[in-house]
Amino acid sequence: MPLRTIDSLGNLAGKTVLVRCDFNVPLADGVITDDGRIRSSVPTIRYLLDAGAAVIAVSHLGRPEGVPDTQYSLAPISSRLGELLETSVLFATDTVGPDATARRAALTPGNVLVLENLRFDPRETSKVDSEREEFAALLLAGVDAFVSDGFGVVHRKQASVYEAARAVPSTAGLLVAAETEVLRRLTTDTQRPYTVVLGGSKVSDKLGVIEHLLPRIDRLLIGGGMLFTFLAAQGKSVGASLCEIDKIDTVVGYLAEAERRGVEIVLPTDVVVANRFAEDADHVTVDADAIETSPFGSAGIGLDIGPKTAAKFASLIESSKTVFWNGPMGVFEMEPFAAGTRAIADALTKVDGLGVVGGGDSAAAVRALGFSESSFGHISTGGGASLEFLEGKALPGLEALGW
Ligand code: ADP
Ligand code: MG
Repeated sequence: MPLRTIDSLGNLAGKTVLVRCDFNVPLADGVITDDGRIRSSVPTIRYLLDAGAAVIAVSHLGRPEGVPDTQYSLAPISSRLGELLETSVLFATDTVGPDATARRAALTPGNVLVLENLRFDPRETSKVDSEREEFAALLLAGVDAFVSDGFGVVHRKQASVYEAARAVPSTAGLLVAAETEVLRRLTTDTQRPYTVVLGGSKVSDKLGVIEHLLPRIDRLLIGGGMLFTFLAAQGKSVGASLCEIDKIDTVVGYLAEAERRGVEIVLPTDVVVANRFAEDADHVTVDADAIETSPFGSAGIGLDIGPKTAAKFASLIESSKTVFWNGPMGVFEMEPFAAGTRAIADALTKVDGLGVVGGGDSAAAVRALGFSESSFGHISTGGGASLEFLEGKALPGLEALGW
């Protein structure tokens, strides 16, 4: 069945619509450091307001463990949303308590109400079906329709994602529809050469994607913290770099399978090694098979791909028709280790075809490094969700919408 889209809701004039957004943005001391996910929610909310509806927008933020925790309040998000929508946004200081109840009762067409963090209530993420159903029913009180637009959570079987979508007329929002379409294009009818670039901190997060994508792709480029587990799988010493020893055997298996399938796995030939994990650490570039010959010996920590590798990756990316990139190439948050990520992002903007950035940190990286979002084919707002999609897993939040 096709994913139900927002036009299937019919006439929305005078209706109240609950929208599940993903406002799970990075915060530092209560200040939003990257508002990409809030901006991504704007088109759907605006569409609903233009259609004459009142909107109740809900989201989680962080992992508050089922109890109110002011550091995870959605109040700053509500203010930012108001700025982006250029309208005043109402905020309820609870989710289904007295403040929310009073405010929803007073809603009129054109109003936007943001409820407090859904995860302040343990029923949102409860393992017990009836508890999630009960919470969804409370969120839906007085609501005519549900729109699922929090792409970052569609892989979760949670009250505001799954149960809510099944209880009233529901559809995908514009963001979820766009994200799903791009991911579909990465799994079916892909134009070749098809290159996947993986980085980030942990191999174990990405094993499923490697396994699922190996049969479909031409090249797999490995950077980030996970590259050291690959180097270790080739018998190289990696000093004090991130390395998941218990995953080495699996990686050895992938290297063999890639060879069998004719998929080129491209590993770095040079890396940037530092004496400590710090912005002002001493650092040098060394060959990837000689990490422990750096001045830091076995204490050296690999924090970025080197310039030769970055240039090679960039040319492989630019000569591809389809590219999916997930995971920064290095610790881009520290300027001395951002060059690899910057080079890959730059190459992706030059792809003559479909170039997709997936992953929360990767998306934040391209924005932090000053790239314009419109220079990429697509920047996915959902790290886990896009990876699970590409792993071929069923996503409960999409299944609930007829996918
Ligand atoms: P995404 O959210 O895009 O899926 P991940 O969460 O997997 O990406 O990884 C992002 C993190 O990986 C970044 O915070 C970055 O600093 C870190 N990282 C990248 N390269 C290294 C490295 N060599 N050593 C340690 N951490 C790294
Ligand atoms: Mg991440």
